[in-house]
Amino acid sequence: MEKLEHIGIAVKNLDEANALFAKLLGKPHYKIEIVESEGVRTSFFDVGGVKIELLEATKPDSPIAKFIKKKGEGVHHLAFGVSNIEKEVQKAKENGFNPLSEVPKNGADNKIITFLHPKTTNQVLVELCQERG
Ligand code: ZN
Repeated sequence: MEKLEHIGIAVKNLDEANALFAKLLGKPHYKIEIVESEGVRTSFFDVGGVKIELLEATKPDSPIAKFIKKKGEGVHHLAFGVSNIEKEVQKAKENGFNPLSEVPKNGADNKIITFLHPKTTNQVLVELCQERG
């Protein structure tokens, strides 16, 4: 892991949350992006190099919709930037963590990503992300 890349926050209404976080952080989001495969609409804020990723479900059966139904809005995951995601996934497995996918998937913000199951990480959903080359 090289750095805390972003913090993902599940929200019910992205437009309302964008306005709230713009007020809180004193700056607007710099992009909105839909990741259709994950059923999510995202927006990003840059706070001194660490990003805040707001996540809104685009369909009722998406992981974010399920998360909000179960736990409500709030912090959803921590994302750590890595330079070799395949190697990190392998290392995580060797160390007893449980990657949710063996092969990294396309994520928002020009990244390939994989998650580690929160059961193996003190109930914190951990994302590994690598800049798409
Ligand atoms: Zn993320």
